[in-house]
Amino acid sequence: MFTLSFVFFLLAGVGLRMWLATRQVRCVRGHRDGVPTEFVGHISLQSHQRAADYTLARVRVNLLEQWVDALLLVGLTLLGGLQFLNRHLGVLIDDELTRQLALIASVLAVFGLVELPFSIWRKFRLEARFGFNRMTPRLFIADLAKGLALAIALGLPLTAAILWLMANTGTAWTWWAWGVWVAFNILILWAFPTVIAPLFNKFVPLDDPKLTEQVRALMTRCGFTLNGLFVMDGSKRSAHGNAYFTGFGKARRIVFFDTLLARLDGNEIEAVLAHELGHFKHRHILRRMILSFILSLGFFLVLGWVSQQVWFYTGLGVLPQLGRPNDALALILFFLAVPVFTFWVAPLGNWLSRRDEFQADQYSASQCPPRALISALVKLYDDNAATLTPDPMHSAFYDSHPPAVIRIRRLGHG
Ligand SMILES: [Zn+2]
Repeated sequence: MFTLSFVFFLLAGVGLRMWLATRQVRCVRGHRDGVPTEFVGHISLQSHQRAADYTLARVRVNLLEQWVDALLLVGLTLLGGLQFLNRHLGVLIDDELTRQLALIASVLAVFGLVELPFSIWRKFRLEARFGFNRMTPRLFIADLAKGLALAIALGLPLTAAILWLMANTGTAWTWWAWGVWVAFNILILWAFPTVIAPLFNKFVPLDDPKLTEQVRALMTRCGFTLNGLFVMDGSKRSAHGNAYFTGFGKARRIVFFDTLLARLDGNEIEAVLAHELGHFKHRHILRRMILSFILSLGFFLVLGWVSQQVWFYTGLGVLPQLGRPNDALALILFFLAVPVFTFWVAPLGNWLSRRDEFQADQYSASQCPPRALISALVKLYDDNAATLTPDPMHSAFYDSHPPAVIRIRRLGHG
């Protein structure tokens, strides 16, 4: 019964993804030869067609990857991949904690290896073809090595702690593990701007007196205190531009990608920042964090229950080992199976996120002239070759940001 519903949701999910991709391709291709009226005079036909081609190319790679992922998932579960790994590691390693960590690590390694060619293809073929990639193979390998080292340094103690709690705290382990999870996330948020991000990029204080003055004035107007304005060498990896807030409490800072500074004028940057401030003012970030903690508690409670059910293991093609802990197995199966079911509620999260984006746009429009944000958005969509004509259904399902035309139309009327 469980196997059947797993297969049903998996197939239906792949079917839905294909259907949405087909719609997106049809819609983008159908609008390829005309710039939407709102953008005529701001975005050239050539640029619009480049965005269409970029979108179509990405849809194709994503679709292929989704198929490969689905096959890998079936291979690991119903076709016995995980059972094979579990049995062999069980013979090779005696120490229970080491054995379980090795099992988790080997599954992650399988996923990493399958994902690697896609990641290489995206960077050095797809992104390069459209002129976005700035990354050298050498930097790619360095990033990979650093990412791996970081994953081991942070992930290994976390996983070991959760496995230890599962084995030693009885039925209360879900609550303990949740507490560890929340603490870990807060620690990462705290360490990200000053410890983790600098491993990958250089951050230098913004060295533009006029812009600094303008940003400070905006902050004062919005009643916002801030410690630092930094510029990040995003151009090292990609031509895509962005700006973000990071850290919390006294340590929060604004980070501009150098690519963004190169492209937007002072008023546009101010409007983009006001949008980001809008997210703070409306407490979107805090709300998202609390929501994610509540959801993760739900996941831990469900995991605590299913990990005690034999059907959960056998239904996914694995036999729990008698007389030995099967906690790692439960964790792996859970993380493999859950997305098959939660995929269907993803649009809900994206809907909430789009609502937040409108609110932040509105806040920006209340602090800066809306036309500054409009022209910044036009430039950003143009530079990122984001399609202006997505399929509405595809967009409603996947997009965390509303389509450009709708955002700009609202700003124009606001
Ligand atoms: Zn936003």
